[in-house]
Amino acid sequence: MRVLMVGAGLSGAVTGRILAEAGHAVTVVDARDHVAGNCHTYRDPETGVLVHAYGPHIFHTDDAEVWDYVNRFETFQPYRNRVKTTSRGAVYSLPVNLHTINQFFGKTFRPDEARAFIESLADTTIAEPANFEEQALRFIGRDLYAAFFEGYTRKQWGCDPKVLPASILKRLPVRFNYDDNYFFHRFQGMPEGGYTAMVARILDHPGIAVHLSTRFDPKDAGQWDHVFWSGPLDGWFGYDEGRLGYRTLDFERFTYRGDWQGCAVMNYGDADVPWTRITEHKHFAPWESHEGSVLYREYSRACGPDDIPYYPIRLVAEKALLARYVERARALSGVTFVGRLGTYRYLDMDVTIREALDTGRAFLAACAEGRPMPAFAVAPL
Ligand code: UDP
Repeated sequence: MRVLMVGAGLSGAVTGRILAEAGHAVTVVDARDHVAGNCHTYRDPETGVLVHAYGPHIFHTDDAEVWDYVNRFETFQPYRNRVKTTSRGAVYSLPVNLHTINQFFGKTFRPDEARAFIESLADTTIAEPANFEEQALRFIGRDLYAAFFEGYTRKQWGCDPKVLPASILKRLPVRFNYDDNYFFHRFQGMPEGGYTAMVARILDHPGIAVHLSTRFDPKDAGQWDHVFWSGPLDGWFGYDEGRLGYRTLDFERFTYRGDWQGCAVMNYGDADVPWTRITEHKHFAPWESHEGSVLYREYSRACGPDDIPYYPIRLVAEKALLARYVERARALSGVTFVGRLGTYRYLDMDVTIREALDTGRAFLAACAEGRPMPAFAVAPL
């Protein structure tokens, strides 16, 4: 079949590769002038630093097949994400761990003592945390919440943490030992040559033609046997019912000679510091050595029509609008909505790849059995 993938990010590349390997003729288009979507990396000509153009992307997964898959296309270097945070004039270790607790409360607790202490601060009247704030109060208590999460989250999401889902905070563990690895996944690393090199290699197959700087108009979908759309779900419909809400990011780039902050990611927990975090990109590639440094000061704000959408907001209003677009999408044939934007979800890279593999295989199975491919290969949305 002649299949079009709209978007050369992880979704389009991985699903496209599965289809091409099975003998389908795959065309991939992307409006941007590079592949890899928001995990695009490039080498800064001035300093030689590998820059994460759309903000930091750290690969971590528990999914052995996904880990093997990415390693097939790029060498991964060991990398542990160790995030620091600045709050009220002091620097702490994240995620909240024994070092954070001892430093914050001026204690010398051992693990069991720290656990008992945090439990004494936690609000145990909250049986089922219904939102971000309740999740924090239930598990770490008010003081740590106020120092590290409340201000950061207000800046990052532009709303009261009481209206955000608890699932956002569940991304972060709390540890009663000195393990400061931000993620708790078995496999973690960074692609040696960057994500763009990795995605370019996934797309490098005789059955795949890639066209960059090429916009696709959904009106032309009929020219293809099937279209996989990794653009915004509402964008397919010309946003005619209104726009699904996103947060966008502004990066204030600056350079430095030497080591500016001594770590890759420094978060800023205080509400009166306007940025959420500063990233120093050379520290994402600790196996390299550069004299110069490239940094991004990161600001979050509501996404306008001309901005790049990053984080789907998914609050009550968005969910109602989402349900309407999903219903319309399900009524279509010949198009499948994929990835972070196509399904309007906060997706990590490993989940995106897992779904892209499954989507590709679902398409092959549908073809083999003569069934139509559904609008969404993942459920529920
Ligand atoms: N968060 C926070 N303080 C921090 C780091 C994270 O309050 O110092 C909250 C914030 O709401 C954020 C969420 O935890 O959106 C998830 O954080 P993560 O670091 O996973 O976000 P990402 O790197 O995907 O932006």
